[in-house]
This record gives sequence, structure tokens and C-alpha cells, in this order.
Amino acid sequence: MELNQDVQYIKGVGPTKVKLLNNLGIYTLEDLITYYPRDYEDRGKPRKIEDLQDGEEALIKAIPASRFHVINAKRNMKICKMLVRDETGTMEIVWYNQQYLKEKFVSGKWYNFYGRISKKTGTATMNSPVFDSENENKNTGKIIPIYPSTYKLSQNVLRQIIENGLKIVNGQIEEILPEKILKEYKLMGINEATNKIHFPKNFEEFKHAKRRLAFEELLTMQLLLNNLKNKTIEGHNGIQFSKDVKMSEIINSLPFKLTKAQLRVLGEIDKDMESDKVMNRLLQGDVGSGKTIVAIISAYKAVKSGYQMAIMAPTSILATQHLESFTQILEPFGITCELLISNMTKKKKEEVIQKLSNGEINILIGTHSILEENIIFKNLGLVVTDEQHRFGVNQRSIISAKGKNVDTLVMTATPIPRTLGLILYGDLDISSIDELPPDRKKIETFAVTKGMEERINNFIKKQIKEGRQCYMVCPLVEENEEINAKSVMEMVEIYKNQVFTEFRVEYIYGKMKQKEKDAIMQEFKDGKIDILISTTVIEVGVNVPNASIMVIQNAERFGLATLHQLRGRVGRGEYQSYCILKYQGHSNTIMQRMKVMQDTNDGFIISEKDLELRGTGDFFGTKQHGLPEFKIANLFEDIDILKQVQKLANKISIEDPDLEKEDNQKLRKMINKRFSGKIEI
Ligand code: ADP
Ligand code: MG
Repeated sequence: MELNQDVQYIKGVGPTKVKLLNNLGIYTLEDLITYYPRDYEDRGKPRKIEDLQDGEEALIKAIPASRFHVINAKRNMKICKMLVRDETGTMEIVWYNQQYLKEKFVSGKWYNFYGRISKKTGTATMNSPVFDSENENKNTGKIIPIYPSTYKLSQNVLRQIIENGLKIVNGQIEEILPEKILKEYKLMGINEATNKIHFPKNFEEFKHAKRRLAFEELLTMQLLLNNLKNKTIEGHNGIQFSKDVKMSEIINSLPFKLTKAQLRVLGEIDKDMESDKVMNRLLQGDVGSGKTIVAIISAYKAVKSGYQMAIMAPTSILATQHLESFTQILEPFGITCELLISNMTKKKKEEVIQKLSNGEINILIGTHSILEENIIFKNLGLVVTDEQHRFGVNQRSIISAKGKNVDTLVMTATPIPRTLGLILYGDLDISSIDELPPDRKKIETFAVTKGMEERINNFIKKQIKEGRQCYMVCPLVEENEEINAKSVMEMVEIYKNQVFTEFRVEYIYGKMKQKEKDAIMQEFKDGKIDILISTTVIEVGVNVPNASIMVIQNAERFGLATLHQLRGRVGRGEYQSYCILKYQGHSNTIMQRMKVMQDTNDGFIISEKDLELRGTGDFFGTKQHGLPEFKIANLFEDIDILKQVQKLANKISIEDPDLEKEDNQKLRKMINKRFSGKIEI
């Protein structure tokens, strides 16, 4: 038996079927037997006719109660009907153009029928069921796998081909998991699992088989990630920042007390910075959890140890805001900070470049512009990227390459479940700020449909009169053919000229001139603008503690992660804050999303829900990070398996990082096969 043998040699596979199988991505015997079912139908337990419900699929054990009628309908259609009964009632069965089935039924004998029930007319009818005679179980009497797509093959045909394939395999797949692991984790052998994933006798068997296969898939991936991580660390001699520069020097000068979580995270960073290991750390923390100050304190350590520091943010608004925060805290310590964004005069830019290369600038704060080739540091030691999810992994490495073995900290406000973090950011250590500063109040969130307009507007007026400010976010800049979505310009017209005439209403959107954007943001920060209407440019990072209302138009158009980010623009100070989600439509997903937003302010829960409602495929970054697609593991459903696997993988990686021990060699072979051409251990 060769797993890579062509499917054409399998019984029941002729030239046309080869093509159809190829269309499903099935070329070899191995492809075939790893084409896993997406679902199963339980055709095992017969139901009683009297209990049947309209629309459900069911297995009925019954005997013929009438002749097999063939009725000639129009256009040569032949409708075949037969009544059957069990001890509780009678049911009609209908087939179309299958008059030859007449031969199959003998009165007085029992049959199993499986099909969809219709009770539209009152009596139960089953349309075109599959069936077996009493002692047969070809189509019924068991759990039947349902395959994801069969293209032009029928489920029955594909099922038969897979069954034939498994017969060829005949229990000869090589086991790659060491005996020890199989025992310790109570895993099925690979052959049993492969058979049972296709043809389980019951739900328990399915669960065991799936667990085994997912375990292997996750384990090989985790081992690969561990190996990559070791390689990035290996051989580098990181900068050892000075042990004499104490983070506490600056911590004690702050106007507020850091949270426990901030202190813990700083401890982790401090340790990395002082060691000779190159820091590659992800700092995740919910919106408003105070990541910027962590970056500032780390920057202090780097600069006072004699190095330069750079921080990159996704928008100029954010970079400008960081410049203010950094300068405010670090200038008193004699540290110079400068801004670098695309929208600067040539003269100013040249001046920055000059001062950067001779070391007069300690800290450079900017956007993508920092990545440009002519931006050269004298001795860059620490790099921070803010809102990492807006950047590619690539950009992270370009900026790091501007120094030698620099320490890197990437910050993200899109919290991800810890276990997933290890996968998405496999090469990074993770620090989490899992606590908000103590003065924060829960943001009250209301999801509303049409008809609440006036009440909301009155509420906004009241808040502004109390001195607060309001953000309003729209999905579009201008009206276009999408009549169902609100645009910034439309809302400006209504709010500025009709509803809020007594207040100052302004707007901002991505394509506006940088200067105009900065000016508007500054005025909003200074409290001169009451209502700021914008697109999602406002999504990340902006910090105006006086703003207390966030109104989101067409909230149904945004994903949970974005809604959470947007909501995080308010509630950043001492004031009770509100988020109003205006939505249209009432599909299940929309309603669930709105409910999640109303029920929780916790970014971790929201990201988990986001994952659940959208599936892992869409989950931010999964595709972008080029993770392998899983054949059977599901990062969301299999989180428990993943946790076990991660522990095990870490143990294996410590004992045998390159998987050279005899026990682990087959694992290594499998990894190299699965990721062939891409990465090798
Ligand atoms: P994010 O993590 O979303 O980037 P920021 O770093 O912008 O959050 O912090 C949000 C606000 O909270 C800022 O005004 C910051 O000064 C303030 N802040 C940060 N840490 C604390 C703290 N420990 N106590 C009180 N306020 C804090
Ligand atoms: Mg931030």
C-alpha cells in the first residue's frame, strides 16, 4: 500500500470520477482518506411515526401498508407512492421516476427508511428516502458521514469510494506519534482514528477519532513554531541595557499609580532588556488599559542606557498623540523626542534625518515613514510598534533591521485568547495587561434601531451641555449607491445644520489633508469641537478623556473587534461614558453581535465571541500570518486540545529541539512533509 498512489487505482474510480475527485483536491489515496466529513447523520435510531415533526430527517422502521403505486404525471414524470406503517401510525413515501424500486418491497417485511419528513398536509410524508431491508445496513442503521463538498459526485458515491480507499489502506498507515504520547494522552492509533472519523459507530467514537487527528495536527504545528522561535533567538547576542537604569525612577514621577498588570508587564520587559537575549515581545492589553505608558517607560530605559528608541504607529493622528505623551513625560529627564510622518516639509524632514543619524534625537515617533531607507539611526536599541494588527510581520522586521539585534515590543489592543496568541504570534513572548486603571467606569452600551433618533439626540445635547464631547462614526465618507449606509457628509449636513445648530460639529476622514486632520484633532482634544463625525480613522488609539459618547451608525457593518475599538475611544477618563450602536436588519448574527456588545466591555470575551461568530478563517491575522490551514482541528472548538498540545510541545522542544531523538523522528518527518517547501526543521 502506498499512500501517495493515484486515486485512479481505487475500485469504483474511472476516468470521469478521477476528474471529479481532483476537483475536490483529491489526487492520492492519502488525500482521499484525509478528506474528512464535515458532519454526520445519525441514521441509527429508528423513530416512531407518530412522533415525526415537519421538516426533520428521520429513520423509520416500517412495513409496507399498501401497493407500490406508479402514477403518470405530466412530462413523462412518474410519481411512485407507497404507504408504510409501524405500530404507531402510517406514513406515505414518495419517489420520482424510480418505478424500478417496486421490485424491492415485499409485503410483510420490515424496512428502514431514512429521509426528510413533510407534514404539510397533515399526514407524514417522506420524500425519496434511502432505505435498506431489515438486515441490511448499507444506507441506514448507522452514522453516515457527510462530506464538505462533493462537487458532481453524490454523497453516496464519494462515501463508497472512501470506503474502498480505506480497504486498500487496511490499517497500514504509519504511526508517527510515539507510543508514550499515545498512552499518556489516551489517543487512538492513527489507523483506528482514520477509519472511525469516516465511519464512527457512535458519537463517542467520532469524538475520540477527531481528538486524535486534531491532536496530531496541532502538535506538529506547535512543534514547528517552537522550532522557529528557537532559531530566531539562537545565535543572537542581544543588547544588555543597563541594570543601573531603574524603571522606578520614572514610575515614581508619574501623576498616577500604575496598575498591577502594568507593573508586572514592565517587570517582564525589564528582564528581557537587561538580558542578552533579543526581546521579541507582544504586549496585549484592552483599549484604555494603558499600553502607551509602558512603551514610554521602556523607552526611558533604552535611552538612559545609551541607545535610541523608535515607535511606529499606524496613523499620523496617533503618532502625533504619542509625541505629546512621550515629550510630556520624558522631556523633564532630558530626553529628546521627534516626529516623523509623511506630511512634513522637506526641510523639517531633512533636519530630523540629520539629527537622528548623529544621535541628537533619542526617540523617533512616526508612521510607516520610519521604514524608509534614508531613515538611519546612530544606535537604535529598542523598537515598539503600536497597534501591531495594522502592520504586517514584514514591517516589523524592516524597522528592527535598522539597528543591530534590537529589542522589539509590539503592542496590540485587539486581545486574542492566550492560546491563540501563541499560534498567531508563535515567535513572540506574550505579556498581557489584563486590568484597566481603577477609575474606569463601564461604558453603557445601547443597541438601537430606527425610531430612537430624538431621544438619542436629546441625550447627546444634555451630555454636551454638561461639558462632554461626542464622537460619531459612519461607514462611508460620502453618499454613494449604497443607500442603506450613513455617510459622514450626510450626517454633517443633518447634525451641523439641523439638529445641533447650537454646537460646533466637525468632521474628519482618512483622505483629508494631514494638516487639516491634525488641526481638527487638536481642536477636538482642546474641547473646542463638541461633535466629531468621522469614518473609522478614529478607530485606533486616539485619547480624548473628555469625550463620553460614541455613536456608531450602521453598526451592523462592523465586526466586533472594530466596534470594541471604536467604543474604546470613550470611557478613557473619569466620566461615565456611553456607546450607542445604531443598527439595521435583524439577522441572527447581527442580533448576537449587538447583544455581545451590550453584555460585555471585556475585549478578551469579545475577541472570543468574534472568533465564534466568524469562525477562525476570518479571524484577524489568521490568513495574514500565513498559518497552515487545518484539515480537522478547529482553533476555536479545540482550544482544550490545543492547551494540552502546547504543554507537550514545549516539553518536547526543550528535550529535543530539532526532533532528532528516535522517538521524535517520525514527528519531524511529518512536519517536513506537511510544511514541505515552506519551512524545514
Ligand atoms: P491604550 O492601552 O488603549 O493604548 P493608553 O495608553 O492610551 O491606552 O492609556 C489610556 C489613558 O489611560 C491615557 O490617558 C493614560 O494616561 C491613562 N492611564 C494609563 N495608565 C494609567 C493608570 N495606571 N492609572 C490611570 N490612568 C492611566
Ligand atoms: Mg494605544
